[in-house]
Amino acid sequence: MNIILSKFSGYCYGVKRAISIAQNSIEELGKVYSLGSIIHNKRAVEKLENQGLQIVDDIDKNYKNILFRSHGVEKKFYNFANEHGVNIIDTTCTFVKKIHQIVADKYKSGNEIIIIGNKSHPEVIGINSWCDYTAQFVGDEKDVEKLKIDKNCNYVLVFQTTFNIEKYEEIVSKISEKTENLEIFNTICNATKKRQDAILEISEKVDMIVVIGDKSSSNSKKLYELASSRCKSIFVEDCSELDQSMFENVKNLGITAGASTPDFVIDEVIKYIQDLN
Ligand code: SF4
Repeated sequence: MNIILSKFSGYCYGVKRAISIAQNSIEELGKVYSLGSIIHNKRAVEKLENQGLQIVDDIDKNYKNILFRSHGVEKKFYNFANEHGVNIIDTTCTFVKKIHQIVADKYKSGNEIIIIGNKSHPEVIGINSWCDYTAQFVGDEKDVEKLKIDKNCNYVLVFQTTFNIEKYEEIVSKISEKTENLEIFNTICNATKKRQDAILEISEKVDMIVVIGDKSSSNSKKLYELASSRCKSIFVEDCSELDQSMFENVKNLGITAGASTPDFVIDEVIKYIQDLN
């Protein structure tokens, strides 16, 4: 079996940065609390927990240090930490920070915010907090019909960083039909786009694609959606979910991994498949 590993797979810039800040903080400060999972990957989080990171569901004034994850947290947690003297270790990715700033500035100057993405995803909940939870949401083309548009209002469109690039044009054009008072910020991140483009290219050359990522990772799920729309694909968290029968009659195999999948998990999967050969 010939294996083609996507040239863009595994940790993105934002995740690498978050993990490195977390590791340095643990070394320097000892115990560090992380508000929610620092990234969407159980294996990577387990490693950090063994080094001294503790995942918590809520902030507490007794914590000396609180780490904010790469896909961002709600504004209220910054306010709480600042009011109670809790030291913030902010690993929010710069691309997500940029969306927070756009939303905060545009909301302050009187615009209505529309977020294109999954409204229950923590990144999107975080973004919505920067306009006091007033945003409307579009998860897919069908939701455009449900938007409440007032002709006297100006609207600002931002995208969840991991939104599917293939749906961008269609959604923008449908919303543009409903209002002309629209300012669009394409905030889909480059890492996502590169991984999605690369997997579309690979799908032309292979019989099957293995997507490696945590089931809670939005960008990994999107990669799987794209891959499976083009060819037979499987979505696994690590090599424990693989077995030989999955690769019957596969001559050319593509492999990709979400932006929060660590190299050691990708290497394990590649080794497992090479051993089948
Ligand atoms: S996927 Fe993009 S926005 Fe998300 S952490 Fe990585 S670089 Fe940042």
